[in-house]
Amino acid sequence: MPTKYFNKEIETMSRPEKEALQSERLVKIVKYVYDNVKPYREKMDAIKLKPSDIKGIGDIYKLPYTVKKDLRDNYPFGMMAVKKKDLVRLHASSATTGKLTVAGYTQKDLDVWAECGARSLVMAGASEESIVHIAYGYGLFTGGLGMHYAAEKLGAVSVPVSSGNTARQIQLLQDFGADILCCTPSYAIYLAEQMQLQGIEIGKDIKLKGGLFGAEAWTEEMRNEIESRLHIKARDIYGLSEIAGPGVACDCEFKTGLHFQDDHFYPEIIDPDTLEPLGYDTEGEVVITTLTKEGMPLIRYRTRDIASLSLSPCPCGRTSVKLNKVTGRSDDMLIIRGVNVFPSQIESTLLGFEGVEPHYHINVDRVNNLDTIEIVVEISPSVSIDEVKTLESMKRRLADKIASAISVSAKITLVAPGSVERSEHKAKRVTDFRKLK
Ligand SMILES: [Zn+2]
Repeated sequence: MPTKYFNKEIETMSRPEKEALQSERLVKIVKYVYDNVKPYREKMDAIKLKPSDIKGIGDIYKLPYTVKKDLRDNYPFGMMAVKKKDLVRLHASSATTGKLTVAGYTQKDLDVWAECGARSLVMAGASEESIVHIAYGYGLFTGGLGMHYAAEKLGAVSVPVSSGNTARQIQLLQDFGADILCCTPSYAIYLAEQMQLQGIEIGKDIKLKGGLFGAEAWTEEMRNEIESRLHIKARDIYGLSEIAGPGVACDCEFKTGLHFQDDHFYPEIIDPDTLEPLGYDTEGEVVITTLTKEGMPLIRYRTRDIASLSLSPCPCGRTSVKLNKVTGRSDDMLIIRGVNVFPSQIESTLLGFEGVEPHYHINVDRVNNLDTIEIVVEISPSVSIDEVKTLESMKRRLADKIASAISVSAKITLVAPGSVERSEHKAKRVTDFRKLK
């Protein structure tokens, strides 16, 4: 079957044409932020950079970075480029420091975001015939409303269930026969588990074919779990509330990386320590410039997400730059006895290990000046919790696997099925007691 696109002209545009479009848009947006956003004017004046110095996309590296602190310092509306009468919606995400990060959208910004979401839905196999079950939370969080307008832009039917009330979610999935599911990856696993417990025949009573999962860093192993448990194709969708919610990038059936909607959002990778730009296929911090945003345009915004970019061709025919799986946020990285550990490395190992379930929690602490890490993971229902010998052997083998994956030894605690707390929103996988002390 030939690949379907939402916007073939843009999605399959040649690289030279795309770069010309990006250049034209960058020149415009830089002048626009200089004229309309005081913090940008100050940043550029400070380094004696004039909008006219930016002549094309190749000059992007001359521009100053934007960091989360800029957004907090100018809370709530100091980064907006338009008057309040031109804003039509606000989204916000919570920050560890307490103050929210706010993003303002004009109607055109919402249209662009919906278009990017619609392109993603098509990558997940959706069409205007589809029924899209949206179990992301609706509210200041961008997940729910983002996919909602994306589904409507596509001409599909949106089912705005929002998060929570799992029994009702399952009922509606059966009654309405949705073919596309949007939620966090951890909630997808939870839904599958609850359906199995209720004796629902997935594939017969549930007609899902594809799903878009995001808002949490997740692994290929988690994708395989979701695909086999829900009998669907699971797509990875990327977004962040400061830039636009889900739809900034999404992977297609060939899983060669997430197609970045780089006609609207220009990605770069930098070394988070030296701030030097890195080339393709090198892992570093993702930096994004919004090329068309009116409400709150951001120039070289440091996302804290760690990933790489690639320009390798994709058999689907889309020509965008691709984002290779976000391995985690640099904020999420744990430093255990001096070693950098990403929770995603632990997840990969757990999911590749027979006899345990994709429900786990990581506890980090410091005892007698030594960092400790404990991984609490559920055993599969098929493993007997009373077979001490089996459990001891599993624990030992799992501890070995984890140690070779993260280069630090961890304590493994196996618990009964159902005992790790389930999340209906974003799963909280790590508790760092060192920070709480
Ligand atoms: Zn592709």
